[in-house]
Amino acid sequence: MKKYDIIIIGSGAGLNLVGKARQMGMKVALIDDGPLGGTCLNRGCIPTKVMIHPADIIREMQEAENVGIHGKVTKVDFKLIMERTNAIVSKDVKGIERGVANDEGTDFYNTVAKFVGKKVIDVDGKKITAPKILIVSGARPLIPRIKGLEDVGYLTNRNIWQIKQPPKKLLIVGGGYIAVEFAHFFSAIGCDVTILGRNPNLVKSYYFEIGEVLKKKFSKYMKVHTNIEVVEAKIKGGKKVLIGVDRETGKKKAYKGDEILVAAGRRSNADLLKPAESGVKVDRQGWVIVNEFLETNVKDIWAFGDATGKHMFRHTANYESQIVSNAVFHDRKLAVDEHAIPHAVFTYPQIAGVGMSFDDAMNNYKVVGGKYPYLESAMGYAINDKDCFVMVYCDAETRKILGAQAIGPSAAELVQQVCILMNAEDGTYMPLSRTQTIHPAISEVLLKAFANMIPLNFEQEHHDHDHHHGHKHHHGHAHHHGHDHHHGHKHD
Ligand SMILES: Cc1cc2nc3c(=O)[nH]c(=O)nc-3n(C[C@H](O)[C@H](O)[C@H](O)COP(=O)(O)OP(=O)(O)OC[C@H]3O[C@@H](n4cnc5c(N)ncnc54)[C@H](O)[C@@H]3O)c2cc1C
Repeated sequence: MKKYDIIIIGSGAGLNLVGKARQMGMKVALIDDGPLGGTCLNRGCIPTKVMIHPADIIREMQEAENVGIHGKVTKVDFKLIMERTNAIVSKDVKGIERGVANDEGTDFYNTVAKFVGKKVIDVDGKKITAPKILIVSGARPLIPRIKGLEDVGYLTNRNIWQIKQPPKKLLIVGGGYIAVEFAHFFSAIGCDVTILGRNPNLVKSYYFEIGEVLKKKFSKYMKVHTNIEVVEAKIKGGKKVLIGVDRETGKKKAYKGDEILVAAGRRSNADLLKPAESGVKVDRQGWVIVNEFLETNVKDIWAFGDATGKHMFRHTANYESQIVSNAVFHDRKLAVDEHAIPHAVFTYPQIAGVGMSFDDAMNNYKVVGGKYPYLESAMGYAINDKDCFVMVYCDAETRKILGAQAIGPSAAELVQQVCILMNAEDGTYMPLSRTQTIHPAISEVLLKAFANMIPLNFEQEHHDHDHHHGHKHHHGHAHHHGHDHHHGHKHD
């Protein structure tokens, strides 16, 4: 049995630790059954964003009508878009491949890792072992049980990069962030897109009104059906057909298209890895169970990134790799700080959030919150978008920021500012109140959201504005109705 100092399973965020291990003089086994670089590089964050930028440009050209500019997209060079998308991926993958190949202290096994005993892993029939093991095995597309789907065939984020032509009519199963990013891309380049989402709302992890705004915006360009359970797939008259059941009424309907994209969530890779053979506990869905130090229940086996099924973002996996790096290489035990995890959906309009959900905040704290529409800031008016907004919510007692969410242009950049505030000093919004905000940047929307905070789930003692009543008797969302228009245009 070949012995290493450390085995790293997964070359996404797992790769972050290979260099450090080598610096420390460790002999490394790196295992990945896919291309080096993992999901983010090969079939996730990076290629999707290269595709989405052209889609954003198309939409901006179309929406420019709102500010008096009429233009027309005369050609979409799908081949070039895909070439650019695949070019950055293959360049980076090749770079990683070279690095790994030139490193004598790292053995790369391009195959499935399977635990077969305590700290013993099978790679293509060979057994390897190490005192320290990192499980960074990520996730893959969850394919819902839909009768006939395998026979009909479908795309996922794994095989979509090879298509030569965009489908004329695309049916998308799913309404989460991956679904709405692809929906944005394909509809912008001219496909006839139908979304069949299972939940009542798109992007259900966000505040409900964000899903509603997205649905409204999307509906201008594509068909959006929510609350639909897709139960069957078949071919009829040369077309792919999905049968959906309305989860409220029970009514069945057929949706016809040329291609199907399944983006219905992510599943664990534990069925391949079999961590239980090493004594590592997984939950019912196969996500590896870790404590706040990212330790599994087996000493010196850590897990992080998507493999734990928690906050499935590349930046979170990177952050976690630092926690594990400290533990493994410096014997420094640090707990993960999950109070300000940021995330974004690069759809149209862009969506982003940080911190706890609005409902969690309302259920656990005395909350002051504010919501501000883009339109009421000077730059928002210039852009002339009528639905986009930023919302912020804080603990009334400590002034600590609990979270923020946004839908609109540059949402990710706006939310990132809140993320920094949440990590600054004591995590209150006070640094913002001392800060000059560039006028008239979109950042003013964020400033105004904070400036307009009101009590949301408790009575304020000297509450003198009658236009705010109703907000006190919230049902999780009442405060979002119309307190903004009292202020007129705030720009100076
Ligand atoms: C379409 C799409 C778009 C995304 N966009 C974003 C975005 O914009 N921003 C963002 O932050 N996140 C995004 N994500 C999520 C992001 O890709 C993941 O959070 C991130 O890649 C997780 O990194 P990881 O290292 O934990 O896992 P991965 O990158 O998935 O790496 C795990 C690796 O382990 C390999 N593996 C698994 N099991 C085994 C085994 N038993 N043996 C050998 N190898 C194995 C896998 O093949 C894989 O290469 C996106 C995901 C998708 C699918």
